[in-house]
Amino acid sequence: MARYTGPTCRQCRREGMKLFLKGDRCYTDKCAFSRRGYAPGQHGQSRKKLSNYGVQLREKQKARRIYGILEKQFRKYYEKADKMRGITGENLLRLLEMRLDNVVFRLGLASSRTEARQLVTHGHFLVNGKKVNIPSYQVDVNDVISVRENSRASEKFKVFAENPKALPAWLEGDIANFEAKVVAQPNREDIDVPVNETLIVELYSK
Ligand code: SF4
Repeated sequence: MARYTGPTCRQCRREGMKLFLKGDRCYTDKCAFSRRGYAPGQHGQSRKKLSNYGVQLREKQKARRIYGILEKQFRKYYEKADKMRGITGENLLRLLEMRLDNVVFRLGLASSRTEARQLVTHGHFLVNGKKVNIPSYQVDVNDVISVRENSRASEKFKVFAENPKALPAWLEGDIANFEAKVVAQPNREDIDVPVNETLIVELYSK
């Protein structure tokens, strides 16, 4: 699956906020947004008032960038969310949250979604005992996600396991033992991304 390969920090500067796309570096003074907290490019420092469309577009781009998804696939998520029962915007965020790469990030087994994506692609994870190396794989309630036996000895996973992160309410697990279970679908309040999903729905439903 294609992915964005351009400059990462530029995306935060474009969205006018830290999107935490680079893991640990985002918390240091090397963060490009902390140093130059204005939009990239020649006119980046000039003030511009956004139109309604501009506001909606920026919100959609922000969500796309946080989850590391290209436009075509993001629109497919929207179309799927639109067909589901319930509130389209919440369905959209739920679909994005339940991607395997995001779940790995939420479990604290990667420092960013980009790293989680790479770890999944490299085949370090099992879902219900079977190897899955597709970052966009949709997990379901009752799925058990674990780190492959051979990968557990790696320094990287040891560090994550020794410093477990607090899990969101929809995930339960024992990160020290490299295993977790999806116990529910995430509610909107469980999804802490700074995105107004209603604006994304407004944009796509024009
Ligand atoms: Fe964004 Fe992280 Fe780069 Fe800072 S270091 S600009 S938060 S990706």
